[in-house]
Amino acid sequence: MSQNKKKEIDTEEKNIAVENLPGVGPATAEKLVDSGYSDLLSIAVESPKALAELTDIGEATAIKIIAAAKKAADIGSFEAGDVLLKKRQDVLKLTTNSKSFNELLGGGIETQAITELYGEFGSGKTQIAHQSAVTCQLPIAEGGLDGHCLIIDTENTFRPERIVQMSTALEMDPEDVLQKIHVARAFNSHHQILLGEKIKEIAKEYPVRLLVVDSLTAHFRAEYIGRGALADRQQKLNKHIHDLMRFGDLFNAAIIVTNQVSSKPDAFFGDPTRPIGGHIVGHAATFRIYLRKSKGGKRICRLIDSPNLPEGEAVITVTENGVGD
Ligand code: ADP
Ligand code: MG
Repeated sequence: MSQNKKKEIDTEEKNIAVENLPGVGPATAEKLVDSGYSDLLSIAVESPKALAELTDIGEATAIKIIAAAKKAADIGSFEAGDVLLKKRQDVLKLTTNSKSFNELLGGGIETQAITELYGEFGSGKTQIAHQSAVTCQLPIAEGGLDGHCLIIDTENTFRPERIVQMSTALEMDPEDVLQKIHVARAFNSHHQILLGEKIKEIAKEYPVRLLVVDSLTAHFRAEYIGRGALADRQQKLNKHIHDLMRFGDLFNAAIIVTNQVSSKPDAFFGDPTRPIGGHIVGHAATFRIYLRKSKGGKRICRLIDSPNLPEGEAVITVTENGVGD
């Protein structure tokens, strides 16, 4: 609770600072904040062209504002190893409800990190997301995160009935579990990005420990078609992922995103078995899990790359009770 309070103050300080940038009047500041640039870092890392387009200011002005933001923003600094070790000690691991899947992940789905589930349609991405929305409410001693879950649902695949089944199987009160899952439909990529910016606000009301974006890439893929749109798509996606990552850092929350394997060759990445979003999603995700169907309703989860774990596979089942061994 006190941690949430502190973050609130941090955010507010940054809001004030946008207005104090040299060359930014109240009207421009309002435009910037309305467009989602509510902190200096988000302005500092933006391209002049994108900033100009999104906020309706000239490109020359945008260049000046970005330069000023770069000077003023806390771009980040070098931290000593012992400080980083301490931060790592805050990391919690969320149980997937499958022993072998947890082991593959070195204990479970980590907080302060993005875990990407990718695979073809029906491979179990949404099921794992639902299961995690339930287990994250368990006490920490039982592999949970003792917190609420936020879901950005872009494909209208959230099913409260599944939550009832899964929580009943774990002998949790379904009503209580449902009350701690907050779902927002995102109707297009722009809406999705806006929701990504709003999550910090919701986390002031509830102790959110898990954020799910299911699917991270579907809207982007449908809306930005062809080679010409690719740079723009990747830039927007990059900013969105950056917002998610920051959320995980600020609130010690786990982040699960789903990504489908494209059935048709992507405009840029060609290979149909490569996940959409290419290297931008790949580099941002700390854990990438490739899911595929196997015999008898089983699913194979393959850990693709991780900073500190060996590659490997786990077999899980998806039943009416949810994810299990
Ligand atoms: P995607 O990877 O496209 O998100 P899902 O996670 O939605 O795929 O997985 C859908 C699959 O999950 C179904 O094909 C089915 O095998 C399984 N599934 C969904 N609901 C149930 C249920 N109530 N009981 C058993 N299996 C289910
Ligand atoms: Mg799905």
